[in-house]
Amino acid sequence: MSSIPIPHDISFEGAAHHRVLIIGAGPAGYTAALYAARANLAPVVYTGLEPGGQLTTTTDVENYPGYVDGVLGPAMMEDFKAQAVRFGAEVEYGEITHLDLSQRPIKVVVDEETGVLADTVIVATGASARYLGLENEKRLLGRGVSACATCDGAFFRGVDLAVVGGGDTAMEESLFLTRFASRVWLIHRRDELRASKIMQQRVMAHPKIEIIWNTVVTDVLGADEVTGVRLRNVTDNSERDLAVSGFFVAIGHTPNTALFKSWLDVDEQGYIETRSGSTQTNIPGVFACGDAQDHVYRQAVTAAGTGCMAAMDAERFLAARAG
Ligand code: NDP
Repeated sequence: MSSIPIPHDISFEGAAHHRVLIIGAGPAGYTAALYAARANLAPVVYTGLEPGGQLTTTTDVENYPGYVDGVLGPAMMEDFKAQAVRFGAEVEYGEITHLDLSQRPIKVVVDEETGVLADTVIVATGASARYLGLENEKRLLGRGVSACATCDGAFFRGVDLAVVGGGDTAMEESLFLTRFASRVWLIHRRDELRASKIMQQRVMAHPKIEIIWNTVVTDVLGADEVTGVRLRNVTDNSERDLAVSGFFVAIGHTPNTALFKSWLDVDEQGYIETRSGSTQTNIPGVFACGDAQDHVYRQAVTAAGTGCMAAMDAERFLAARAG
């Protein structure tokens, strides 16, 4: 994604023209699609590179209302999509690579080549996992370093693993990894976890998980594959190496908003700012919802809620313009 201007050779002559164009296919994007479809606005959803969003990298979702026994994240996203499609939403597997929000209709470029026009745009691009920023963490990514236990955990059977982070994601990743690993070290930089109490209790009660408090990871060790991590205790500055075969980073997320930064107001972390009680951005007809806009709640159900709001805001915008 970039915010570079639309290349001159992209043609918009005869381009598809949508009343509602949704960027992103997680709970927010699909819910916006469902509501816009039921309002007869024939929305199109561009999925980006990760259709289904972050929920496709998770296993059991136990806190989405209505699923009494829980549901697998990817299955839930298939349900969301099918429901939106049933009412006429169109789902396209493409990435929005450029856009121009300064004119009406809004100009959008898909996969660097196809011009598309839209009366309203709903940004539902979500957020992506954050890394520590260590050189060897990057070098060993996919060779023992991962930010997704549910994607990669099964590759690490019967070995010791490390997880860094103190939030709900780190708890969830640690608990998931106990299915495969012989032991999970949870490394946290403070002496108190940020995660919800119920997740903390599960982690602390688990016989395979051990928490290393007040400690940061200063290096990832290994020539071709991870063999360990270097740790520094922040209270006494002592260093030691911990032998592990896998290193899972679970330290939060960055909103996927780079494409919009030259157009839309964002906060210091890059989350899109919307008018209080609404999904309206600083540009009329452009709405933002889900994790790209919400750094506080970041739940599937709140993302779905703001997706609904965005569709209703878009509908009202179009109705006001028509009337
Ligand atoms: P959070 O922002 O909640 O937590 C990030 C954690 O990583 C914090 O403990 C933080 O430490 C630590 N951290 C951040 N940067 C670094 C760094 N550079 N080095 C070491 N540690 C670092 O992110 P999560 O992804 O865990 O959760 C995001 C949201 O999603 C939360 O609202 C959470 O409740 C929700 N969530 C809910 C789930 C569920 O209900 N099933 C599952 C997963 C997420 P510190 O605490 O010191 O700041």
